[in-house]
Amino acid sequence: MDGFLPTFIRRTQTPPTFGEFTRDRPSSKMGIPERVVVPLQDTHDTPCDIMVQEGESVRLGQKIGLMGKPPVSVCAHASTSGKVDRVGPLPHPLGFLAQSVSILSDGKDDLDDLTPLNPKKIGDDKSRLFEAFREMGIPLNYELLYGRGFKVSSLLVNATEFEPYITSKHHMIKERGQDLVGGLRVLIGACSASQAVIVVEKRQSSLVNILRSATKEVPEITIKTVLRPYPETAANLLTQKLSLAKSNHSKSVHAGDPMSVDLSSLLAINNACFLGVPFVEQLVTVAGSGIKDPQNVWVKTGVPLLHIINHAGGSPSRLGRVTLGGPLMGIPQQSLEVPLIKRAKGLFAATAFLFDEHRESRFYKRTPCIKCAKCVDACPASIIPNAIADYVDNELLGDAEQWGIFRCVECGLCEYVCPSRIPLLEIMRLGKVLLKGEESLLARINLKTLGW
Ligand code: SF4
Ligand code: SF4
Repeated sequence: MDGFLPTFIRRTQTPPTFGEFTRDRPSSKMGIPERVVVPLQDTHDTPCDIMVQEGESVRLGQKIGLMGKPPVSVCAHASTSGKVDRVGPLPHPLGFLAQSVSILSDGKDDLDDLTPLNPKKIGDDKSRLFEAFREMGIPLNYELLYGRGFKVSSLLVNATEFEPYITSKHHMIKERGQDLVGGLRVLIGACSASQAVIVVEKRQSSLVNILRSATKEVPEITIKTVLRPYPETAANLLTQKLSLAKSNHSKSVHAGDPMSVDLSSLLAINNACFLGVPFVEQLVTVAGSGIKDPQNVWVKTGVPLLHIINHAGGSPSRLGRVTLGGPLMGIPQQSLEVPLIKRAKGLFAATAFLFDEHRESRFYKRTPCIKCAKCVDACPASIIPNAIADYVDNELLGDAEQWGIFRCVECGLCEYVCPSRIPLLEIMRLGKVLLKGEESLLARINLKTLGW
């Protein structure tokens, strides 16, 4: 049983985009913050080893966390210059305490001595290039960074924007299209991939034109258009749509599978190779009903979310729901003191539940499942979210796997349509984490807070 029931009529769900708030406004750059808190782990990986001590002065771009053994993520760097005023466990947006380095800014952004990576100089030893990416703090798939880097047949770049309100990919392409392609070219060479596909929504014709013009001399890169956007995590759906090879929907990646790459990682590769700058800044859309001045803004890694919300005219006391990421797939936050982490595309802050300002936040009003099957209709992965959620709820994880939990692409549509306000997406995420044996405090904290 893989959870697929072809007899169901599935209705396509297209959440409203709300992109008009930020799409046509050029991005800006946030000034130097008073403080940054750089976590030494981006996700649930092993933290880096701390390289600095309290009281020490650091410069922008200086390495402050040294990568250890896999599955450690990548090195950490100071995103501003100043004095280290605290080193130790601090709250992380994923819900746990992470080893972090707090830097009190001197307001100068003094640059460290930076040397551009030169892929040609590194030569044929591709593993050295991937090591250099890790040194530069560039988050890529684990399989790319460790071990599978040179056996990838195709790279997949999902440039569609699925999340309501979030337009940061749009701006990255519009404002840094050439640099994105530069990063992708380096990665194609590093992986010896035969092709790379950038997927854009058909109606975004201006972006298609920018990318076509930036790639006209690069035959390995193809621009494909799709009618509907795909969620960040829907690499398997996209590869089916584009008829690229994909082994199956299991929890592990197989040799020859297309490897998906994030736009911000491509920009970071470009910056590292041609400017010598490590990953210390990213473009974030700040929007939602609790934000007066919605915008796309370049923000340093480690800036507290409160600072970003204040910058965009948000009033923290009025906020009912804040997610790192968009309103559908984002990670709900319990504190605004946590720092911005790499690859976050947006910060969504609402005074109440996004799609209905008159209802209170859904998470505090969970009611029992009424078996309406709206979640089944909406699910693009053709699984049965309510049944799987039941299995996870009752700790029947083997059944959850059999019914296709790993086919879930974490789009959040089931949760969006659920009249009982069941946090289905969070339950799917928890189930996967438990099945992969990567149980962390995070998932438990988030779900418990949400009344799961
Ligand atoms: S989040 Fe829900 S709707 Fe989306 S793929 Fe997973 S189960 Fe299906
Ligand atoms: S949409 Fe919600 S209430 Fe309806 S079947 Fe799915 S989980 Fe149950």
